[in-house]
Amino acid sequence: MRRRRFRPLHGLLLAALLFTAAALRLRADDASPSAPAAPAAPAAPARRWFKGNTHTHTLWSDGDAPPEVVVEWYKNHGYHFLVLSDHNVLATSTRWIRVGKQPKSRLSAEALAALIEHFGSAAVALIQNPSGELAMRLKTLPELRAAFETPAGFLLVTGEEITDHVGELPLHHNVVNQEGMIAPTGGATIREAMAATIAAVEAEAQRTGRPVLVHLNHPNYGWAVTPDDLAEVRGERFFEVYNGHREGGNAGDAQHPDTERMWDYVLSLRLGRMGGDPVFGLATDDAHNYQKAPPQVAAGPGRGWVWVQAEELSPDAITRALLAGRFYASSGVTLAAIEAAADALTVTVAAEPDVTYTTRFVGTRVVGEDGRGAVGEVGAVLQETAGATASYRFKGDELYVRAVVTSSRLHPNPYREGDRETAWVQPVVVRRARGR
Ligand SMILES: [Zn+2]
Ligand SMILES: [Zn+2]
Repeated sequence: MRRRRFRPLHGLLLAALLFTAAALRLRADDASPSAPAAPAAPAAPARRWFKGNTHTHTLWSDGDAPPEVVVEWYKNHGYHFLVLSDHNVLATSTRWIRVGKQPKSRLSAEALAALIEHFGSAAVALIQNPSGELAMRLKTLPELRAAFETPAGFLLVTGEEITDHVGELPLHHNVVNQEGMIAPTGGATIREAMAATIAAVEAEAQRTGRPVLVHLNHPNYGWAVTPDDLAEVRGERFFEVYNGHREGGNAGDAQHPDTERMWDYVLSLRLGRMGGDPVFGLATDDAHNYQKAPPQVAAGPGRGWVWVQAEELSPDAITRALLAGRFYASSGVTLAAIEAAADALTVTVAAEPDVTYTTRFVGTRVVGEDGRGAVGEVGAVLQETAGATASYRFKGDELYVRAVVTSSRLHPNPYREGDRETAWVQPVVVRRARGR
């Protein structure tokens, strides 16, 4: 992959953070104390937390297991919903793949035997041509839904990984809850292709009337998407802060920031200079490998997921909650509560015995002004708190505050050796600049 140099961000002051005093804005759900009393609003519907993964591959593209094996894995491991997101395909057509011991086989004879043993021969569609070549028909999304979905228990949401490239640079987005397949758009530049993808997904949402989510995948893969690209394409509102594939580039390298640092940079530019929307972070598996035990593989299941707070377990409700930012990303830490009030952000962990937790509150504070506006250090650690509950009181000069909870427990199936289980809470916008 072509590499681009990245300007180190440590200690970077955003020299052009423009502000007006009137720009101070709190979250929409926090009423201003001086606002006139509004008529009583109808009670908000009760919401529950649902665990899901929005990024998964199967034999429909380059995953190494049949879709029913993949879906069953997630259903049996405590997930409430799953998005099968194969590359540029929806699992709705008729597709046969070669299996058994033969050239170009996609499933070994042993794995095929195990599949038949587990699901029964009637559940595995096989044909053999006169020359002895064996083929298996892949299960479709409607078939998988009929076999695995349970009301309020487990749900499959339509999805796809729009797999595009600009020259040698890979550009991947996941779409959740669309009706039809959305083809890669291409573009002369990464930013052009990003914007065209967002527009194609918006057109699909308009056409169908469905809530449809699009998230940018593994921005550091191939060093394809820079922090400035992500900031500048304002329609990008979701990205993978954690991608379980070991080539995903979460940790960055000497020339490229890690995805958390990227997040802070983008939030600071969007909120402090561009008048744009915040970006929300997801954790996903990007799972491809199911035939070997997870710790040995590049992209096994169960590394990263989201917990979504929704009214019900339906494709529209889950997607709407994601679009509204009512979720957090996790690689092992489960939260009992997130309270984003007018004056503070409080995070409570669903603590486990013999495990300790540390919460970092991270944000960009405006610490001064130059001729063009305010300046601040990008993504400073504002407070670090040990224990199962942590609360940060806003000073009022933060563009945003987000929280990261790290466990004392090592991830059992890590993206990288030594990773600890973590939860990433979405940024709360405290104040923002006037848009340019
Ligand atoms: Zn990808
Ligand atoms: Zn993928």
